Amino acid sequence: MNEVHWRELKHEVVDTGLCTGCAACVMACPRDVLGYTQDHLPVQIGEGMAHDQCVIGDRGCDICTRACPRFRAWETDLDQELFGRPRREDEVYGQVRSILLARTTDAGIAAVGQDGGLVSSLLVWGLEHDLIDGALASSVEDVGRGPFDAAPALVTDRAGVLATAGSRYTYAAPPLAMAEAEEAGLKRLALVGMSCQASINGSLPARGVRKYERKIALTIGLLCSKTFTYEGQEQVLADHGIAMQDVTKINIKGRYQVWTRDGAYHEIPLKLFHPHTRPGCKMCPDFAAQHADISTGGIGADDNWTLALIRTARGEEWMKGVIDAGLVEVRPGEDDEVAMNLLTKLSTVSRRRWPSELVPDGARAPGMLPIV
Ligand SMILES: Cc1cc2nc3c(=O)[nH]c(=O)nc-3n(C[C@H](O)[C@H](O)[C@H](O)COP(=O)(O)OP(=O)(O)OC[C@H]3O[C@@H](n4cnc5c(N)ncnc54)[C@H](O)[C@@H]3O)c2cc1C
Repeated sequence: MNEVHWRELKHEVVDTGLCTGCAACVMACPRDVLGYTQDHLPVQIGEGMAHDQCVIGDRGCDICTRACPRFRAWETDLDQELFGRPRREDEVYGQVRSILLARTTDAGIAAVGQDGGLVSSLLVWGLEHDLIDGALASSVEDVGRGPFDAAPALVTDRAGVLATAGSRYTYAAPPLAMAEAEEAGLKRLALVGMSCQASINGSLPARGVRKYERKIALTIGLLCSKTFTYEGQEQVLADHGIAMQDVTKINIKGRYQVWTRDGAYHEIPLKLFHPHTRPGCKMCPDFAAQHADISTGGIGADDNWTLALIRTARGEEWMKGVIDAGLVEVRPGEDDEVAMNLLTKLSTVSRRRWPSELVPDGARAPGMLPIV
């Protein structure tokens, strides 16, 4: 890939709208050529540089293109790297070793977890068993615009994991927290991220971005159809007489669910939020976090269980660890027909988003398998 660099990444991924804003390129850029905008896009910074002419790239650096989980034949490259083969057409939610429903047995985690608290259980277990030094996740504090805004966050202990548990349906790019982890000298990190960010788990090893491949000890993906703008959510809530400041929890299960400080529960039709879809999500074909070690979601029939797709050998080892430690209880995913059907349906719908007009042969992008 030596003849390509930021110029190609910008024209082929950013300018075409395929960029999800995962920030892998920003994280990996060795010379701080790339910054990150408020609209969640990579941008060239630095005096005297044109917006697409990276002088470091002209000297042979192509790391941004290699880190990007949407560059060229990304899906095939990443599947091949992680699973030893491209996926079959019928594998709409990617390749898996097993599918489980998991629920934490830790009352403290259960109280703050979004669904079954599996993600937080894995992080706490990994930190307390010295498997990781920290985790790149998303903060829950008021990060500028108000509660339920999201920002990249580094957590290094149980208190930090609990403080950042739960879901914010606004976009944040946890790979950006890598800079803080590096400053702190942390070497082994878990990455928690939505589908697009979790694909970094494949792009780093597939294209030899060794420095960051070595740092990421586990990638936990969050199943994701889309994120919404913060302002859009705030507006729809206000239209329903709910102030964002009063919200204590948001969940999305076919409808937008809201819990407020006064103990009330509200449901708002999800279609009201669709006009507020974040642009970077509109062409993302990956619902199921297909390149994570473990992908997690809340689409089950029962609340308080996390659907877990265990995809890799290290994902399997971590799951075995938390199960053997008694930190989570599990049952087979097939027990929940609702979850399995939704997994297939939502994955199929997302795959239809990949824009055929950008495809040289008019059929599909390089690396994207046919939609079934
Ligand atoms: C934007 C978004 C959309 C989602 N859409 C779906 C969906 O359509 N269907 C589905 O089944 N599941 C979806 N999920 C996943 C689901 O909400 C839960 O995160 C998942 O089931 C794990 O639950 P848990 O109780 O095990 O996680 P927890 O133990 O609560 O841990 C959640 C982890 O997610 C991190 N996190 C929260 N918000 C963000 C964010 N904005 N960016 C990055 N990291 C974040 C937290 O820091 C924490 O580490 C979505 C999650 C997010 C963040």
